Amino acid sequence: TGPARLDFFVAHAAGLSRKQAKALIRGGAVTVTGEDGAPRTGLKANSSVAPGECVRLDGAVLTLPGERYLMLHKPAGRVCALEDALPTVIDLIPAEQRRGLRIVGRLDRDTTGLLLLTTDGQWAHRLMSPRHHCAKRYRVTTAEPLDDAQLTRLRDGVVLHDDPAPTRPAEARALSDTELLLTISEGRYHQVKRMLAAVGTRVVALHREAVGHIELDPDLPAGAWRPLTDAEIG
Ligand code: URA
Repeated sequence: TGPARLDFFVAHAAGLSRKQAKALIRGGAVTVTGEDGAPRTGLKANSSVAPGECVRLDGAVLTLPGERYLMLHKPAGRVCALEDALPTVIDLIPAEQRRGLRIVGRLDRDTTGLLLLTTDGQWAHRLMSPRHHCAKRYRVTTAEPLDDAQLTRLRDGVVLHDDPAPTRPAEARALSDTELLLTISEGRYHQVKRMLAAVGTRVVALHREAVGHIELDPDLPAGAWRPLTDAEIG
């Protein structure tokens, strides 16, 4: 999805005429925030909305009719790909739901937990854009017990071998000697495993519990999916 004119977008998403959409834009009921969450000013009917921007009407996020948003409890052993020689996560979605779906933020084959899928490129972009710093919470099981010094290093940021910039500050909370909740706001390649390797241990199990404000539904067994609620989408 490329840029769209604001009045078209509002009309289509809210089921209004162009004239009504224009009036709402003029009246200030429509707001647009950039990928970084900063509000745009000077909005007009012919302003363009770029991928990654979020349009709201009276505070509620607008999405285009027909877009689909799903959460899947990813089981281990499936790759996050639309097509692969190995079993994929898409195979878990009924055929009639699959068209146009894309995976929002991949998980490794052995990682379990919250995976989001959508047809809405704008929404996907907004969640995954590096500028957005969307928080992702993982439950991490390590091969060896972690001490306080290691937890502090995870929080402060560690240097991974392919980038001199340390990882952004993270939250790390020990659940037991070998289990922690780690919340990161980046999505570098194999980031969690490499962060734990950087502090001298190995990940033996990795489970994603939340992405932004969306929590994995505890009623969803591994391999099952459901549509997102409006609150989860917004
Ligand atoms: N970090 C990893 O190392 N693997 C994942 O699947 C997700 C985050």
